[in-house]
Parts: sequence; C-alpha cells; structure tokens
Amino acid sequence: MLHDAAAFRFVGGRVSVDFTATHGLRWRDPGVERIPAPADLARWFIAAGLTDSTVPDSASTLRGAHELREALYRLMRGRVLGAPVDRRAVEVVNRWAAKAPPAVQLTADGKAKRHGAPTAGSLLALVARDGVDLLGGPHADRLRECASHTCTLLYLDTSRAGSRRWCAMQVCGSRDKMTRYRRRATAR
Ligand SMILES: [Zn+2]
Repeated sequence: MLHDAAAFRFVGGRVSVDFTATHGLRWRDPGVERIPAPADLARWFIAAGLTDSTVPDSASTLRGAHELREALYRLMRGRVLGAPVDRRAVEVVNRWAAKAPPAVQLTADGKAKRHGAPTAGSLLALVARDGVDLLGGPHADRLRECASHTCTLLYLDTSRAGSRRWCAMQVCGSRDKMTRYRRRATAR
C-alpha cells in the first residue's frame, strides 16, 4: 500500500498523536506539511472524525494549530526518548487545553450530540486535552516512534506485549520485511 506524501495518516491510536502526523516525513529536511492552509486544517478535523462540517477558519488559527502540533510532538517524542520535559511545549499545550472544547448535550432520546457548529479553536482545545490526558496518564509509556527510518511517525502501542515496532504493519512493517528480503537476495 503506497501513500501520497500529503495524505493524512491515522495510525497514532489517539487524536492528539494523529495530529502530530500532519507534519510528515520529519526525518527529511524539510518534512511534509499536510495542513499548509486553513482549509486543510478544516479537512483534517473532518477526516479525524471531530466534526461533520467545515469549520470557519483563519490564518491565525492555523498558526496556533501548527504551534500546538509541534509542542505535542516535542512532548511525545521526548517521552519516547526519555528526554526531559520541554517546558515551553508544556505551556503551549496547556494554553490550548485551557480553552473550551465543543459543547455537547443529550438529545431527547438520550443520544450525545454536539451543541451547535464547533470552531477550529474548540476542536484544537479537544486535541490539546487529549494530549494532556495521554501524556499525563498511564498510557504515556506506550508511546512509540515507528522503527522505519523513512517514516518515524509516532503511535500508541496498544498491543498486549507492548512490542509493536511499526506505525502500521501493512505499510512500514511489510516494507521493512521487503527490504530485508532484498538485502538477503543481493547478498546471495
Ligand atoms: Zn511507519
């Protein structure tokens, strides 16, 4: 399975981890910016299942989104590497987590429903809160970086043994197997 470099990736297992994947191929310099324009951020919110409708967006919200994303990435990757906590990144995430997420309510027949159309800011608050919950909770030590050197996406390892090596077996796992197979074939 091949991926368009600009296509969104949802292999993180949590919305806050998936959000860090909107900056792809970080091992390259530069990587791939998957939300270069406000409309792309609105598209990501829908693809991530956070809303059904296109949120009204602005350039300043996009800048904030990029800042939040990089802060989440620094904290998550720092966690993977066992690095000290980046205080500035903590401040950025906390600033977004302090904002109000979209309002929810129960309908007359007892179903959960969003109250009104969410704003981009409220959805970013939701993403930031998920990041706080993840980084500060018991699953943080299950954060991993994909073992493929041409991927390096972050994901949450939910396998029982905690020994998953790739963001997605069908993509990076099989590519790795193929590379090793070719190497062996060439050596012979
Ligand atoms: Zn991968």
